[in-house]
Amino acid sequence: MDHAPMDHERCDACGFDGAAYDPVTLLDALRALGPAWSAMLVEAGPELRLRPAPGTWSPIEYAAHSRDITALHVYGVEQALTGGEPVLPGIDGDGLIESAAATYADADRVTVVSELSVHARRLADLADDGGVGAWTRGITIGDSRSDVRRLLEHALHDSSHHLDDVERGLAAVRGRSGRDQGRSEPLTET
Ligand SMILES: [Zn+2]
Repeated sequence: MDHAPMDHERCDACGFDGAAYDPVTLLDALRALGPAWSAMLVEAGPELRLRPAPGTWSPIEYAAHSRDITALHVYGVEQALTGGEPVLPGIDGDGLIESAAATYADADRVTVVSELSVHARRLADLADDGGVGAWTRGITIGDSRSDVRRLLEHALHDSSHHLDDVERGLAAVRGRSGRDQGRSEPLTET
């Protein structure tokens, strides 16, 4: 894990740059995660549970992971917004992810998307209700402090990064570029 101090979340791998978002577009982007995952998993179609490579998660596994990561960030933002600067012991993140991941492969697509949407909207609503002035409030886990703004950026990045992973995996499985076909029709579900 990289804990180098930075003002904004950035990622060379997927091109995410937290500095590109103002408070309004950041919350809009969080609220758009549910629909984005919904569309991606519909797009996955028969490849929903297919791992593109032995060490790479299937689309449903990435989605379930993102649902859980988003839920963790809801908790983090709730705690940070109290303003009491809560300090929690460091957690074995990799161990938690590994044990939770055992259930991901068989997860139900509609349930996962629905839960992910609820968490992502809750995250945005919490931050919205708290007001931008409260986004400098923080929470410390182990020896690493994050403020609300950074937690929002990290949640958005994590999910966006994995949407990218899924898109790349599908493209690899299907032996095409992934950007030139099959994405134009509106994907909706009830
Ligand atoms: Zn990334």
